[in-house]
Amino acid sequence: MKAAVLPAVDTPIEVRDDIEVAAPGPGEVRVKVVASGVCHSDLSVQDGTIRLPTPIVLGHEGAGIVEELGEGVTTVAVGDHVVLTFVPACGECYPCLHHQSYLCEKAAQQVAGGLADGTTRLTSGGAPLHQMAYLGTFGEQAVVPAISLVKIPEDVPLEVAALLGCGVLTGVGAALNTASITPGDTVAVFGCGGVGLNVIQGAKIAGATTIIAIDQFDAKLELAQQFGATHVLNSEQHDVVGAVAALNGGRGADVAFEAIGLGATIDQAIKTIRAGGEVVLVGVPRMDVLITLNVAFTWLYQAKTIKGCWYGSANVHEDVPKLLQLWRDGDLKLEELISQEITVDQVNEAFTAMQAGTVARSVIRH
Ligand SMILES: [Zn+2]
Ligand SMILES: [Zn+2]
Repeated sequence: MKAAVLPAVDTPIEVRDDIEVAAPGPGEVRVKVVASGVCHSDLSVQDGTIRLPTPIVLGHEGAGIVEELGEGVTTVAVGDHVVLTFVPACGECYPCLHHQSYLCEKAAQQVAGGLADGTTRLTSGGAPLHQMAYLGTFGEQAVVPAISLVKIPEDVPLEVAALLGCGVLTGVGAALNTASITPGDTVAVFGCGGVGLNVIQGAKIAGATTIIAIDQFDAKLELAQQFGATHVLNSEQHDVVGAVAALNGGRGADVAFEAIGLGATIDQAIKTIRAGGEVVLVGVPRMDVLITLNVAFTWLYQAKTIKGCWYGSANVHEDVPKLLQLWRDGDLKLEELISQEITVDQVNEAFTAMQAGTVARSVIRH
């Protein structure tokens, strides 16, 4: 099969068509990947922000059709349409049993770049190829754990469903699951990429009435308005902390989301919220990012809350159907997130467009 492969950190993506796909092992499923989003985290593997072994088939946001079942798989059948989720949900481990399947312990082997047993189902020129997040949706096919799949109705277009797998579950989940937004709240969102735009539409669904989008690119701020931002601030041109405070009677935002992953914007987000407010950290930082906070003022005298958000605090078997219902009701924009449909040969160009801030999501059609 054909797939986009990252040969090594800091090198361009190579499209290879000699990849051999092994049969699914016990508990695994072979999926024909129909559509895959191109997410900033794919770029973060390329530039080393997220450290994964190479060579690797990137892609962790996809949807497709089940083609072959490994031994013992009963949760999906051949022909089912599925969303591939980049965090599995085994339903049996401690977090899964405590309604925190976004922390499923079966994800632990993902850092090794293979499947749960540490081996990969892909080879190229006789050498093993790693798979991002047990998936590798930049390939035409993927052999994945059955616990990384959520069955969806067949009338949902697969390029739309693909987006649920990362950006939508993460961003909308951050607003609906992680944060405690109350109707009428003032919300600030730092970073208006694929995840940030979904935070914005999630905040709107949660009832926030003042939604302030912050980014350095005007093109992204325009998109943010289409997804529900009521105010936009170009961070190159404004004193963000002062401007946000002014929009809520001088106090600051009730809730701020940091969807970039930089120490400087995390620090700003914490300064942007009012006393008693909440910051939700969604952006993926480099492993060496640290912040320094005044404990007495931040946590005691101002009683601020700083929450971490992994995978939108989502329980995928509940959240995927919930998000699809919001989409059917017209409250969640999914088609509008797709700036361009591309072939797998155009992944490098899609990365460049993402860095330039000119696209929300590029979606690969295999
Ligand atoms: Zn992603
Ligand atoms: Zn689990």
